[in-house]
Amino acid sequence: MDVRRTVIVGGGTAGTAAALALHKAGFDVAVYEAHPDSAEDIGAFLTLASNGMRALAQIDASTAVTATGFPLAAMRVLDASGAELAQVPLGEAGDPLLQYRCLRRGELNTALQREAERRGIRIRHGARLASVEDGPDTVTAHFTDGSSATGDLLIGADGLNSTVRRSIAPTARPGYAGQYVFYGYTTRAPLTARTDSACITMVRGSGAAFGCTVSPEGETYWFARISGKALAADETAQGTPAHWQDLLLPLLRKDATPAADIVAATDDRILVTNATEMPLGTPWRSGRTLLIGDAAHAASPATGQGASMALEDAVVLAKCLRDAPDTESALSLYETLRRPRVEHNITASGTISRSGGNPPPRPSAGQAAPAPRPGEDELIRLLDWDSDIWATSRQRDLG
Ligand SMILES: Cc1cc2nc3c(=O)[nH]c(=O)nc-3n(C[C@H](O)[C@H](O)[C@H](O)COP(=O)(O)OP(=O)(O)OC[C@H]3O[C@@H](n4cnc5c(N)ncnc54)[C@H](O)[C@@H]3O)c2cc1C
Repeated sequence: MDVRRTVIVGGGTAGTAAALALHKAGFDVAVYEAHPDSAEDIGAFLTLASNGMRALAQIDASTAVTATGFPLAAMRVLDASGAELAQVPLGEAGDPLLQYRCLRRGELNTALQREAERRGIRIRHGARLASVEDGPDTVTAHFTDGSSATGDLLIGADGLNSTVRRSIAPTARPGYAGQYVFYGYTTRAPLTARTDSACITMVRGSGAAFGCTVSPEGETYWFARISGKALAADETAQGTPAHWQDLLLPLLRKDATPAADIVAATDDRILVTNATEMPLGTPWRSGRTLLIGDAAHAASPATGQGASMALEDAVVLAKCLRDAPDTESALSLYETLRRPRVEHNITASGTISRSGGNPPPRPSAGQAAPAPRPGEDELIRLLDWDSDIWATSRQRDLG
């Protein structure tokens, strides 16, 4: 199988970053995104950890992304009494390109899509995949509007409820990870409840794991993770901010922390989602089709690594396709390199979600909750755009 034309389904973090990486590696690439325009829902916020920022730097997309959001240099951990347990630097806090960044999901996707378009990469919006036809010589994506796109390789980057996954692993579905998660934004948090900008506060509350930070403009971003049965679909669809405050405030008011005051000051923008994860061992590959990002390995949000893992996927995949002698070897190497790391993250994040806690603080230059396989030095080598991933992997096997 020789890859020249690549069809990417999904223009989120994984799909757009993969397009940037494959384009940089010299492949012909086009992205097909279901959403009708790039201004998709602003949605929840996320943090890009230093490993994700490192991946972005390899595809020359740091500037595009650091134009939005704000950096996070430290994490403070409070217990339920409000006492500070620890304050630690986050990741590579001293490097402006690699330090953690907090931004909204929609902002990240828009920044990546604009960068892709600036480089001449085709992104077709309003193209919702209906089915995949995987043949011996080519693979074709059929869209709900009757159009289609054919390539040598189809990359399914269509997220948690992936349609591409149905053609590879028809029975694999994300499962509930034991927590539902609220996200809110407010400009009216009481001054006493505000944290320093560039610092994220994690509260180990008695009824919720809570986190908050403040943007340079003074807007407080917060989340609360609650253990228990999954929320029903009609409740998440119909719940109003007042309903969510009624549910959350009694849990937060038990503790002497800033959490309850911040939530009480948020009367309009509160989102909620059930935390889900993909089962370990979900197949990612069949014929000319490959899953990446959440479609392959969605994890609960507790470690805050989903977007960073998607960015790593993009760089490692492009390097494998660039450096391996043939496509079969490239896809096989990609899976060998990625599966242990992303599945470790699923397990680590799910463990935190099911135990209801915040990740433990880490004392030094590590990330808040890193996925430790491969080791950091090896990860740096894997992501390094100028190193030959095939040669270095062979050397490691021989060594
Ligand atoms: C509430 C929440 C909070 C999170 N917090 C963090 C965090 O702090 N840190 C972190 O790193 N990660 C976080 N994540 C995870 C992170 O957002 C995801 O891991 C990351 O966005 C994965 O990107 P993706 O491109 O694989 O999937 P997505 O971002 O979901 O993108 C999939 C894309 O595919 C498109 N699509 C779907 N179906 C079709 C179709 N049939 N045809 C064409 N296109 C289609 C969608 O419109 C979408 O644009 C969070 C996730 C959620 C839900």
